[in-house]
Amino acid sequence: MKYLKKQGIFLIIFIVIVGSIAFSSMKNSPQNMDYSRLLTEIQAGNVNSIVLEGDSAQIQLNAALDENSDITGYNVTVPPDITSASDRFTQALDNQLIQTYSIKPPWTMPWWYPIVLSIGFIILLGTWFTLSQRQQGGSMGGNRATAMGKSRAKLSVDDQKTVSFADVAGADEVKEELEEIVEFLKAPDRFVELGARIPKGVLLIGPPGTGKTLLAKAVSGEAGVPFFSISGSDFVEIFVGVGASRVRDLFEQAKKQAPCIVFIDEIDAVGRQRGANMGGGNDEREQTLNQLLVEMDGFGINEGVIILAATNRPDVLDPALLRPGRFDRRVIVGLPDIKGREQILNVHAKGKPFADDVKLDELARITPGFSGADLENLLNESALLTAREHKKVINNEVIKEAAFKVMMGPERKSHVMSDQDKKVTAYHEAGHAIAIKLISSSRNVDRVSIIPSGMAGGYTASRPTEDQSYHTKSQLIEEIIIALGGRAAEEIVLNEVSTGASSDLKRVNQIARNIVTKYGMSDHLTNMIFGDENGGSYDGRDYGSQNCSNEVANIIDDEVKQIIDHAYQRTLALLKENISKLHKLGEVLLEKEKVEGPEFESIFMAV
Ligand code: ADP
Ligand code: MG
Ligand code: ZN
Repeated sequence: MKYLKKQGIFLIIFIVIVGSIAFSSMKNSPQNMDYSRLLTEIQAGNVNSIVLEGDSAQIQLNAALDENSDITGYNVTVPPDITSASDRFTQALDNQLIQTYSIKPPWTMPWWYPIVLSIGFIILLGTWFTLSQRQQGGSMGGNRATAMGKSRAKLSVDDQKTVSFADVAGADEVKEELEEIVEFLKAPDRFVELGARIPKGVLLIGPPGTGKTLLAKAVSGEAGVPFFSISGSDFVEIFVGVGASRVRDLFEQAKKQAPCIVFIDEIDAVGRQRGANMGGGNDEREQTLNQLLVEMDGFGINEGVIILAATNRPDVLDPALLRPGRFDRRVIVGLPDIKGREQILNVHAKGKPFADDVKLDELARITPGFSGADLENLLNESALLTAREHKKVINNEVIKEAAFKVMMGPERKSHVMSDQDKKVTAYHEAGHAIAIKLISSSRNVDRVSIIPSGMAGGYTASRPTEDQSYHTKSQLIEEIIIALGGRAAEEIVLNEVSTGASSDLKRVNQIARNIVTKYGMSDHLTNMIFGDENGGSYDGRDYGSQNCSNEVANIIDDEVKQIIDHAYQRTLALLKENISKLHKLGEVLLEKEKVEGPEFESIFMAV
């Protein structure tokens, strides 16, 4: 609170100063006058004095030009030929048409000017920085975090209840891997006496929301050691050198408190391959990364500081980070499978009253692709919706609504669509839905909606009938056709395509390119994959490392184009054969805006 007040006052003072400067300069700014008019006024004897400065002259008149104003000061821009203007003014002075004429040398910056300016600027920035640091460091207590460049690591022993492995559901293998670390942190001596080498760094790899942060906290909770956490994006600051000094300070603090955990979230933000980004290196980030490497090498193997880091982009990490003695242990934290989802749902269902029709195992079955965070969010949204409806228990219907909300973002019912937009969206979504029904071997349509939600104008929700980790080529092509269904329907029904398909097209291109470069499934480049050596997909622009020649790059482009063109022709044909179904669904959507799975089935069957 105190911080907010201070910053507020600071801001007000700033605004007042800037405002008054702007205001006063506005008030005093002289009027402009044409050069030719000036010459006339000189001839008429109306001009008192002229000061020439650069290519502009300040004029002082003997009297105001008209009675209604009292302005006597004017500014005149002198024509490019300044010497001739100067000659004229001198002449006028000689002829006593004007009283004074002087030439002021153009204003040059005094030597101390930039110094004073930059000192002022630094003081301003410093004050602001200290204030914001104070807020950041609030939870740490003490004066540690006030200085610029000090680590923003949060020590979270006291700021929340400790997390244990029991709070992390369904990640048994991962927990097993981390168990060793916990044992070490609990009793380092036992390991040291046996000469065992405990990993310094463990990299947790997995998509967002899979519980990486939670796991790191659980390790410290289980071992009962302090937990320092910092996010990679915190390191990357505007000031060169700040990131590196943060790293230094972070490890200094950690070593004092060993045994302890240092958790670096989003390590890819700072740990990207050096020199990999196009358009010049990022010095600040590289310095930070170098410092991190130095620190990791700088303390002994069994000093009791264990570094956990999390990322969802292991492919972009600098190889130096993965070398032995650094993050040499890697643990994959994947999306939960059906059993895992049920366990996670059970954890977060605690303390929530459910109606009898709610079966968590059934809910786990219909939520493939949901992360732990999504599931937690799903149950929380259900509770919120139930409370809003003044009900006492959470029922199945509410959970279904919440599931759509988690998948698509909240509906924006207030958003007004023009009739044309509505029509385009209705046929677009109908195209997706019909394509799913016609060709998908593994998906059911759950709902088709043209109510804008989240970022999308409308959506077709479908769910796989089962979890799948591998896809066949024909399934990938199916996905492409489904994604193209929207645009194809627009073309068939409205004879025109819209911009609404851009994210569909992105997906189409991604899948098609993966078929060729990642899975080796294309006709001409069978069983060959192309990409950077870390296994990331070749996309020609991300890291600029492509292990293929120009000719091969051309073939790749051709293959991709062929896959997409071919799929689009198939999509058009499919929808044309079923044009009456497309029209019917489009009409119903225009009328009702939302069609649920069973109703969709009956519309599909009826025509
Ligand atoms: P990540 O760091 O991988 O992005 P988080 O650890 O921040 O994910 O997870 C966010 C939230 O999701 C957690 O606070 C927790 O409520 C929930 N969650 C994720 N995975 C699990 C899990 N395996 N068991 C229980 N809850 C989970
Ligand atoms: Mg996280
Ligand atoms: Zn679409």
